[in-house]
Amino acid sequence: MFNLMKIRKHKLYVIAGIVLVFVAMVSFGVYRMYFQQETTELSYQNFLTKIEAGEVQEVYLSEAANLKGKLISGEGFITDNPRTDNLKEMLLTKNIKVIEVSEQFTISQIVIFVVFIGAFVGLAIFLSKNTSKQASKEYDKMSSVEYSTEKKSRISFQSVAGNEEAKSSLMEMVDFLKYPEKYKRYGAKIPRGVILYGPPGTGKTLMAKALASEAGVDFLAVSGSDFVQIYAGVGAARIRSLFKSASEKNKCVIFIDEIDAIGKKRDRSGLGGSDESDRTLNALLTEMSGFKDNEGIIVLAATNRLDTLDEALLRPGRFDRQIEVGLPDLKARVEILSLYTKNKPVSEAFNISALAQQTVYFSGAKLENLMNEAAIYAARENADVITEQHVDKAFYKVIAGEEKKDRSNIAQIDRDITAYHEAGHAAVTKLLCPENRVTKVTIIPSTKGAGGFSMNIPPDKMYHTKRDMLNNVKVALAGRIVEEIIFGEDNITTGASNDIERATDILTSMIKRFGMSNKLGMINYDILLGQQGVNQNLVETINKEMERLYEETKELIKTNLPLVEEITNGLLAKETLKEEEIDQLFNNYQNSKVN
Ligand code: ADP
Ligand code: ZN
Repeated sequence: MFNLMKIRKHKLYVIAGIVLVFVAMVSFGVYRMYFQQETTELSYQNFLTKIEAGEVQEVYLSEAANLKGKLISGEGFITDNPRTDNLKEMLLTKNIKVIEVSEQFTISQIVIFVVFIGAFVGLAIFLSKNTSKQASKEYDKMSSVEYSTEKKSRISFQSVAGNEEAKSSLMEMVDFLKYPEKYKRYGAKIPRGVILYGPPGTGKTLMAKALASEAGVDFLAVSGSDFVQIYAGVGAARIRSLFKSASEKNKCVIFIDEIDAIGKKRDRSGLGGSDESDRTLNALLTEMSGFKDNEGIIVLAATNRLDTLDEALLRPGRFDRQIEVGLPDLKARVEILSLYTKNKPVSEAFNISALAQQTVYFSGAKLENLMNEAAIYAARENADVITEQHVDKAFYKVIAGEEKKDRSNIAQIDRDITAYHEAGHAAVTKLLCPENRVTKVTIIPSTKGAGGFSMNIPPDKMYHTKRDMLNNVKVALAGRIVEEIIFGEDNITTGASNDIERATDILTSMIKRFGMSNKLGMINYDILLGQQGVNQNLVETINKEMERLYEETKELIKTNLPLVEEITNGLLAKETLKEEEIDQLFNNYQNSKVN
């Protein structure tokens, strides 16, 4: 900013200088025209001759080296000043007008001079004012951030399909925003910041808007990239200006999309980190801890990746709520497709759930786009209704040219593998540790797992027993084991790498740190060997133990293969199984075994 202002001022000074020189030249010309007219230089001798001839009208008498005057002809003249005492008397006797000038300047010269100085000063003041006005305008423009506001937009949570958990979490906040005084009375604190994280197009912005409009407050939307600026301090100034506008609005929802542009993990090494982005992040942190509780301002932010954010952002008083917004599963896709076919003429034969089956890994935005493209095809053909053919064409248009990485056209075999793998984890968890809750199993990829994931919550306990830990190793190995049993040893995949890491970690800690190996005894091997120490005996022991656990788990799975199949089929049909559904499958299975 500083540099910028300097550059701007510099330019203005140059312009001011040129204008002044011009004004001076014009003034001088005018002065010459009106007050000096033609001035001829006369020798003193010549001057005396002219006096004798009666051609001199007036003389300006002064102590200066030169003597000026005017001839009868109106011409001005200049001659040497003899500085004689009787000059005045001599001139007067010749009937010549004598004007005594105490200084070198004539009255008219003084007037011109004053006017000129006045003009100069005036111009300088005018320009300097203009400069600073312009500069401050410029600064205001740069430091303020354009936000889009939407008041009373009619987006409600009903416009959001799926995203159940995120929606219910945000719906709670509607009341906070509507009646902050109520919460204040009870001394309850309103959450200030919420981060919505997940893949693009899953409705994060949409939900933020829904929150604002359902609470009837203003919606201030900005993007993190608006704060990434080359001029020092501008990003930070923009943050301050954003929060200033927010507090002027009293109640509002601030939405910062792409928060990672501001809040990337800071470089602790001090190398490569930029002061400017640090300053911007700090301004955000300060503003967020700065505004008073229960003011009725909630900051929502969105990012694709939570793990790249600076931890400082996630601390209490900042974005202390983090809500995952994942790709829609089958049920959610049906809802989204219904939402976007509602106002479109579709053929009777059109089967939403079949389309939902086909659109695995489509985001909400992509589903909307799909239906829109289908509508365009129908319109082009002037068709009565949108048919399956239009949707088919649209489907290929939407997925065409996408990177392989995009999973919309993922092969069925990959889904099967993922389903079996995740079913393996879930089945072994239920079989070995029925007290653990399996709250969710899915084949929809998320930030938590590459292919899919199974969420497993162990009961709260202070200590972990040897059995708990061994069971956890077995649960981790189960995914790969099922792959091997079902698809054969040659078709196992890379999908188990995190599982293997986890199994190795648990087992190694058991043996190296917790004295849980009969063979290696009560020794802390980290101390004995140093952190990086490798010992052949230790490696062999861990390896043997892992093999044993692998075989045991394999046996367990083989004898309970029907349970794995049940869960797999459930996953292939629904993509996501909730806790109740898993429990139901498990209980049915147990009962069928008893009978
Ligand atoms: P994000 O902010 O997560 O990138 P957006 O909220 O901008 O995604 O989604 C873009 C558009 O896609 C939305 O405006 C909406 O039309 C549609 N969309 C995405 N997810 C959903 C959803 N769950 N329900 C309804 N529409 C959705
Ligand atoms: Zn796994």
